[in-house]
Amino acid sequence: MAFLLTFLLVCLFFGSNLVDLSSSLSSETIYEPALDRQPNQTFTKNKQVDIPLLESPKTQKKLIILSIDGFPAYYLDDDYIMKDLPNLSLFFSKSHGGRVKTVNPSLTYPSHTSMITGVDPGIHGIEGNRPIDPFYLEDGAWLWYDEDRKVKNIFDFAREAQLTTASVFWPVSVGNFSDYNIPQIWRKKTEGDTKLIRALATSGLHEEMESLVGEPVLETTGDSAKIRTGLSIFQEKNPDITLIYSTDVDTHHHLYGPYSKVALNTLKKADSLVGELIKKTKLYERDDLGLIIVSDHGFLTAKKICRPNRILVDMGYINTKNKTWDFYFQSSAGMASLVGNPNTRLGKRKFPKLVSLKKRIEKTCPGIKFHYNNSYFQERKKNAHPTSQAILETNKTIYISATYSGAYFEKDSGLHVHGFPSEFSEMDTILFFYGGKNSGNVQINTEFKSVKDTFGVACEWLNIKCKKGERRN
Ligand SMILES: [Zn+2]
Repeated sequence: MAFLLTFLLVCLFFGSNLVDLSSSLSSETIYEPALDRQPNQTFTKNKQVDIPLLESPKTQKKLIILSIDGFPAYYLDDDYIMKDLPNLSLFFSKSHGGRVKTVNPSLTYPSHTSMITGVDPGIHGIEGNRPIDPFYLEDGAWLWYDEDRKVKNIFDFAREAQLTTASVFWPVSVGNFSDYNIPQIWRKKTEGDTKLIRALATSGLHEEMESLVGEPVLETTGDSAKIRTGLSIFQEKNPDITLIYSTDVDTHHHLYGPYSKVALNTLKKADSLVGELIKKTKLYERDDLGLIIVSDHGFLTAKKICRPNRILVDMGYINTKNKTWDFYFQSSAGMASLVGNPNTRLGKRKFPKLVSLKKRIEKTCPGIKFHYNNSYFQERKKNAHPTSQAILETNKTIYISATYSGAYFEKDSGLHVHGFPSEFSEMDTILFFYGGKNSGNVQINTEFKSVKDTFGVACEWLNIKCKKGERRN
């Protein structure tokens, strides 16, 4: 009773002062809930401030996205392959997701940019791996530069939400791509590229990681350098979202083909590195870390080559002697887009002889379809190549070469490629998401149908506001 009386007296004495204290705090930004944050959100005098003060702040979830370039979805159905991939098999069994469609064109740079923007290449602006460069004047350059992307990506939205970002060797990342950035770029694919990457990476990061990991991230070093560097940045810098890109599986699929011994051995090495990443991050023991394992396209083996640019040379639209051009087929291997040269009088116009070009190409390369005025063309133009005047569609046996020397059409012993229409099941790839140790119960509203869905899942897990297709400032 005496205690209750004392308590009431204390309340009467201090009560008004307690109210004053809370209102004096309320004139400043005092708390921003980690999981409900919005840009510039503040609590002001007019708002209730005592409720957030009494709540304990929730932990910001973290996310790693690992891309294994060139993982065909058909491997998932093959026990012979999956039995040798114990770490990936276990991860897949604990995760949401599975087989997904890629985008058009089904190439590395367009697809990786679709993963982190949620939209098609025709919208985000990375329409191929390389710039349109018929005479190789760019010395084999790829679309390395982040400034070519037209819409916001997951990093833009993460940064707006005050999250920290990191990336290792992600395609199209030269520039202000992430807070801890080691971009993919090369000049001659030699050790001489080291200084170039160091100059373009976040200052000092490449050197620091090389000393920790024991090997540098370079075009000429393997997945171990890239995945271990991603792991080290995650451990040392504590970013909220980390992108890691690995290349060896794709390289060996191109060289030796899907199901080849070399490619499968490379996949086993990737599996072991995934196991290391999972173990060292204690992924399965914590509930605040998510991991997405995704790939960009599948593979198939084509046995014929078509060279439609030879026909444009014959028609006078490409002049190999003077190195000038008005029209050119930009090929992705399994599709090609007829584009005009925006710097020539003729190239700015509509191609003058589409009907005769269609006849010549379809006759020269049996199996190729030429689309320019139908719904197939309109869909491809919008989603893959907005400046296209016609699209070549191939079947599964024909590789469309961009070169203008060599035979118009010929047989080949086998080219292991991608870049074919995303409707081909061989181009299907993988997207898996694991959301902490309670992953099975984590409610995810994003559907796992396309590599583009990586964006939605990532935004949901990080609990940040993202808007697909929003233009960059
Ligand atoms: Zn790729």
